[in-house]
Amino acid sequence: MASAVISSSRAATGRLTDKFGRAITDLRISITDRCNYKCVYCRTGNDGAQYSELPIEDYLRIARVFVSLGVEKIRLTGGEPLLRRGLTGLVRELSRLRTLDGEPLDLALTTNGHLLEDLAEPLRDAGLSRITVSMDAVDPDKFHRITRVPGSYHRVLRGIRASRAAGLAPVKVNCVLLRGFNEDQIVAFARFSREERVIVRFIEFMPLEEDRLWTPESVVSLHEIVEALRSFRPLVALPPNTASETAVRYTFDDGLGEIGIIAPVTEAFCGHCSRVRLTSDGKIRTCLFSQSDHDLYGIVQRGGSDDEMAAFIRRTVDRKEARHHIGEPGFLKPSRSMVHIGG
Ligand code: SAM
Repeated sequence: MASAVISSSRAATGRLTDKFGRAITDLRISITDRCNYKCVYCRTGNDGAQYSELPIEDYLRIARVFVSLGVEKIRLTGGEPLLRRGLTGLVRELSRLRTLDGEPLDLALTTNGHLLEDLAEPLRDAGLSRITVSMDAVDPDKFHRITRVPGSYHRVLRGIRASRAAGLAPVKVNCVLLRGFNEDQIVAFARFSREERVIVRFIEFMPLEEDRLWTPESVVSLHEIVEALRSFRPLVALPPNTASETAVRYTFDDGLGEIGIIAPVTEAFCGHCSRVRLTSDGKIRTCLFSQSDHDLYGIVQRGGSDDEMAAFIRRTVDRKEARHHIGEPGFLKPSRSMVHIGG
């Protein structure tokens, strides 16, 4: 009884916090679920799906409400966010928002990099703080086999270099490792981090794909990644940047290069998760593996107020799951895949 009283009063005011005491400061907004790549571990390779996008000003309105509740970091994602007309305008408006402490937002974007060469500078000028580029191989042929788009490797590389030149530093490069596809790229990526002066982050493959590829054996684990890196050069552990850091960080013995390993499967970090997601059709997901969405946009469609949205967000955040159950008996894959949830 006492905890129910505490829970409902906490839910009514103050900064967003879930019932486990986790502060929710990080919002990921998918601004489209269209994508110009068909990465084998994400999509089926067939087009023809229905796409859903909201008007840009509605994402902005929703973002404002989240920021008024204590969100400090916004990551734009998709689908492929660079496909979205109006992106730089959205970034410009978001960069004008201030956190409850009066600070600029930490404004980041995740992209496959295909259209980045021409957009890196405009995005920086609009106020983007940081960029993460997904790249699953540094071998061009292998990269094309994964993305199923010819010529993609060199475009993405030019996008990464343009981002660095534009001062969107440090550029992070995310690589999802999938056994049988690209686990032989680990050392090549270590070299890439050192040569291109980017932070490379390896991500364990999660059961969020459209096809049914995921098995426990398909996951290249944190432990294996560390072993492969050690075979290249001695590793030196780096401290986490923040309390809710998802990556275990390393450099090499000579201090050159930085590697992060994000291990949601073998070393889950749910205990300090600070994140919620907004899907491109305006639904809140409190966990990548949630079994249901929460229709925030329904309030906008009914002509509801910002206060109604804020109350809905608080109630929804209070229902955030304690943790995911990947690999456990009875685990249910979410009904939506990564490209539709927003990575
Ligand atoms: N199109 C953008 C991109 O490629 O970065 C943003 C969306 S994408 C869905 C976001 C991230 O999710 C990418 O880094 C992608 O590699 C990752 N991803 C997709 N499916 C995944 C899965 N099943 N497990 C782990 N990461 C996945």
